[in-house]
Amino acid sequence: MSIKIYNTLTRSVEPFQPLSPPIIKAYFCGPTVYDHTHLGHVRAYLAFDFIKRYLKLRGYTFIHVQNITDIDDKIIKRANDEGVSWREIVDRYTKEYLDVLTKLGIVIDIHPKVTEHIKEIIEFIEKLIEKGHAYVAPSGSVYFDVSTVSDYGKLSKRFKSEEWRQEEEFLAEKRNPYDFALWKAAKPGEPWWESPWGRGRPGWHTECAVMSSRYLGTQFDIHGGGQDLIFPHHENEIAMAEAVYGVKPWVKYWIHVGYLTIRGEKMSKSLGNVITAKEAIEKFSPEVLRLWVFSAHYRKQLEFDENILQEYKVLYQRLVTAIENLRNIIKSPRVSHYLTDEDVSILSKLEANEMMFHDAMSNDFNTPKALEAVNNVLSIVFKDVVRRETYELALRAYSILANFNTVLGVLDKYLKEKITIDLEFIEKLVDIIIRVRAELRKKKEYELSDRIRQELLALGIKVFDYKDESKWVWER
Ligand SMILES: [Zn+2]
Repeated sequence: MSIKIYNTLTRSVEPFQPLSPPIIKAYFCGPTVYDHTHLGHVRAYLAFDFIKRYLKLRGYTFIHVQNITDIDDKIIKRANDEGVSWREIVDRYTKEYLDVLTKLGIVIDIHPKVTEHIKEIIEFIEKLIEKGHAYVAPSGSVYFDVSTVSDYGKLSKRFKSEEWRQEEEFLAEKRNPYDFALWKAAKPGEPWWESPWGRGRPGWHTECAVMSSRYLGTQFDIHGGGQDLIFPHHENEIAMAEAVYGVKPWVKYWIHVGYLTIRGEKMSKSLGNVITAKEAIEKFSPEVLRLWVFSAHYRKQLEFDENILQEYKVLYQRLVTAIENLRNIIKSPRVSHYLTDEDVSILSKLEANEMMFHDAMSNDFNTPKALEAVNNVLSIVFKDVVRRETYELALRAYSILANFNTVLGVLDKYLKEKITIDLEFIEKLVDIIIRVRAELRKKKEYELSDRIRQELLALGIKVFDYKDESKWVWER
């Protein structure tokens, strides 16, 4: 089943073909660490986590880089407001952000920080100046000259026009109102780094274009972020990166996650309607948050509603109960050798829903549809499988739910014991015991060999002795 993905760059659903399969290289825009990680961030990070986990389930390896913006106007302002150093602000909120990711089960391979990459950022800006794409203003700030790029606007579909502006505070020294800062000259009292253009700090867009390609190469598969980053952030990243690296497209697929809303408004610090990730995790648990975010397609808005979150508490409990019941049935194998027509029909219902899950996820990661398949499997488990206690049905349902969970990531602690592997291991151990016992019988050590037989029987293992060999079966 081939995977299709919506690409913001082409505004269409495309077949997913990574540049160098089976490796997928992806960059997702991380936080500016000036305040609490909130539920809006959680939604974006989790939405991307489901995409990543599904691609891994389909056999790809996935390298995920996510930046931490640890120098920015907002950080400087926050530090000034609190009367503390900007590093104190950065350390506090970086720690909180990383803690939230761990609690939510999100693993990121590389977490580059801007202030650790100043050298690379300066080199990158120097190349842009050399190639005629950037200019130094009298203040010592460096700007990207948007008029030097013919296809600027291809991601956001906003094409160059005198009518729109970005970074208006620098209008006086920019050549065009739509140019943007690559390097910002330090104002008095601001943190700074030395550069060929004087003391200053990197612009926000520059850092992502530099750090992504430093770790993923000058061309890579996926670049993602919230929908609000399409313009100007990602548009500017493309303009810079394609100018420096000389490769088009710099990134093959652009993925953008929809907003989290509360009473219909986007959850954001600036609107003051924020629920912090920490509060939400304490109140609802990471598992319930994961299931809730999974219930919405990543490109759609997701509305926060406590009552709806309660529904996902119930779903989570159903998943746990299903796994526990199935485990109970399969813990001692009872091979049937013949399945009834009803068993066979239940197996095919399970299979249809496993296919439905893959079909949904393969089609631009349609998680709400995939969640329907999860719910269907649960209904089959409770209605048919648990009641019938057929070993084969339970094993099949268990492995389907375990597979789903590699994407959902909510049952890990209940699935820790790998039942099939354990069984194989146990069976090999029993084989060894049986062979040693046969040696004892050859030496006429009947007392000891009988004791072994009795003790194995107490564990549900029945031994049959034939003339030259012994065999064993599970017996409940
Ligand atoms: Zn970014």
